[in-house]
Amino acid sequence: MTKMKSQELLIGAHTSAAGGAYKALLEGQRIGATTIQLFTANQKRWHSKPLEQEAIEQWHETLAETGMQKIMSHDSYLINLGSPSEENTAKSREAFKDEITRCQQLGIAFLNFHPGAALESSVEECLDRIVDSLVIFEDQIAKGSTRLLLEATAGQGSAVGNRFEHLAYIIEKLHHRLPIGVCIDTCHIFVAGYDLRTAEACDATLKEFDRVVGLKHLYAFHLNDSVKGLASRVDRHANLGEGQIGLECFRYLMLDPRTREIPKYLETPEGPARWEKEISILRDFK
Ligand SMILES: [Zn+2]
Ligand SMILES: [Zn+2]
Repeated sequence: MTKMKSQELLIGAHTSAAGGAYKALLEGQRIGATTIQLFTANQKRWHSKPLEQEAIEQWHETLAETGMQKIMSHDSYLINLGSPSEENTAKSREAFKDEITRCQQLGIAFLNFHPGAALESSVEECLDRIVDSLVIFEDQIAKGSTRLLLEATAGQGSAVGNRFEHLAYIIEKLHHRLPIGVCIDTCHIFVAGYDLRTAEACDATLKEFDRVVGLKHLYAFHLNDSVKGLASRVDRHANLGEGQIGLECFRYLMLDPRTREIPKYLETPEGPARWEKEISILRDFK
């Protein structure tokens, strides 16, 4: 097996789709990214207009020109597929359906989403509602090549997905029915209580993930350092090496054979100029 060269590894950032989705690809190209994450619609709204044919064509042209691969979409922050409110769940399912449509139109590899929030219900009820929500999309998902990715969360408020067991529960129920997997956000799992500050800690956390969920279900990373401490359950992203996690974790994930070739997306502060530097730091780790 030949190891991928560092320039070929899929590393990118959440770039801006202001002015059209294809602009996110161009921004990615400018910062040395080989993949990107984007919002395919306004992430703070329930409804968006369907994508225009012209915008879809422009996207595919730019995609081919830039050679970007494994593009990831992050769904709207409003969507809660595990809401105890029937009305909210229905709205969420409708918005999620539209998101899948956009992802399929754009040939997007991964639709990343926060599993849900239990609000006044129990974690178990919330997880079951998420499963019930996702199963609805079985036929729609089968028509395209987009994989759903559960994002590991910080566990702020009543958000589920902060324990590997939550992710495993959903994956176990669904992976035979539709393409699904996990995206680990390093900041989120750290503040959720999984240590990443040393090589030993990273190894132990990956082993724990493998034991509970299975590494074969891990498809992507959000790479973020954390302003807040281990198990604080407060989600504040920091630039790589400038937070409580530290640079060693990112070196580890870039070099360990279990994680080296898994696509990685930055969501760190400060934007494109900083991402360009962080991407080159990641590629240069030896
Ligand atoms: Zn997220
Ligand atoms: Zn976050």
